[in-house]
Amino acid sequence: MMSHKRASRRLFAPTPGGTVAFGKTILLVLDGLGDRPIHALGDLTPLEAAHTPSLDALAAMGECGLMHPCGRGVRPGSDVAHLAILGYPPTTYYTGRGPLEAAGIGAEMHAGDVAFRCNFATVEDDVIIDRRAGRISETASLVGALNDIQLEGVTFSVVRGTGHRAALVLHGAGLSGAVSDADSHVEGGRVQEVVATDGTPEAERTACAVNQFMNLAHSILDGHRDNKARRSAGLPPANALLPRGGGVCPSIPSFFERYGLRAACVAGGGLYRGIATLMGMDVVDVAGATGLPNTDAVAKIVGARSALATHDFVFVHIKGADSLGEDGDSRGKTKFIARIDAALEGLVDEAVAGTLVAVTADHSTPCALAAHSADPVPVVFAGSSVRTDSVAAFGERACADGGLGHVSGTDVMPQVMNLIGRQHLYGA
Ligand code: ZN
Repeated sequence: MMSHKRASRRLFAPTPGGTVAFGKTILLVLDGLGDRPIHALGDLTPLEAAHTPSLDALAAMGECGLMHPCGRGVRPGSDVAHLAILGYPPTTYYTGRGPLEAAGIGAEMHAGDVAFRCNFATVEDDVIIDRRAGRISETASLVGALNDIQLEGVTFSVVRGTGHRAALVLHGAGLSGAVSDADSHVEGGRVQEVVATDGTPEAERTACAVNQFMNLAHSILDGHRDNKARRSAGLPPANALLPRGGGVCPSIPSFFERYGLRAACVAGGGLYRGIATLMGMDVVDVAGATGLPNTDAVAKIVGARSALATHDFVFVHIKGADSLGEDGDSRGKTKFIARIDAALEGLVDEAVAGTLVAVTADHSTPCALAAHSADPVPVVFAGSSVRTDSVAAFGERACADGGLGHVSGTDVMPQVMNLIGRQHLYGA
């Protein structure tokens, strides 16, 4: 690896001729990275406690700050935070998680369609016995039994996801995403009747159609040969679909239309792949990218660097820190961050070579809360055009002293455009 000391002193490296060339960008989002000081870690956060020479090198050569993904004091979901960071204000573009997840598993959707994410579940007498139907792994034939059902002028498509996951897409006129979840989110809870949440006739019609579909799906699934086989084998039948997160398919201008950048995405999780798909990014498949703490981060960074050959902008998502934060596992989160850091040497090399490398998180997931919080997350921009500050470690508190100060999620893309020399002149 090249020396970072020298690179950290480099300010505004002009290309021959005195102009700044249009640069390329890798944006890495480490999901749920931010945390709070933890007594068991010597009053450090997992990021501060972890050995992170690569992230620290990026901080040392870059400009750092703290980011509030959706504004100060807002506890963001991963979906809205990613929209904001990629420059799509969620107040304009967010219509619910369902369509984003559906896009991530390849659902075909058109403007006006309404999509939900769903679980295959085990239900008896309207009580949810197992929200994941014994973590069923093979649902192709169950999905096949549910497809192209039409009820009251609405066509239903079920799309298979990984494991017990699926998406449900409603196609028809006069639909609305303003409907509640059927999933009560607890085992032992009752399947909820889907209701309109805004009182419009479109939402009433949509809720009614979903309820009818669920009843029909339950009777088809309950008698399906795969479920008969599961019962005989002592396994819970996947005899119900539980839709949640309904939303109308959003109309999103492509990333290329918005920024003039050819963009690619490297992500294992369906939500992130879906967001990228809806933005018209090329989703690059990387073997070993699981969206889980066991993900192959080295392969993802290698995949992202090769995608730079054909793209201007590569968005990389790594999920694990969030999952471990939600488990309240501070030592696991610390170990995971150190393991990921070892895979990020390649990003340091990219930044030294002049690529703009931005690293941040979509929100904090403090282990003490086992949930998302509004605590701001560290952010760094490193590369040849960056005005280096004095921060030399990538941590929540170290980055508070950085040259970027406090920024919002929607500030990230304007910063990127400025640093790669593609920001339009405002005024004259
Ligand atoms: Zn997240």
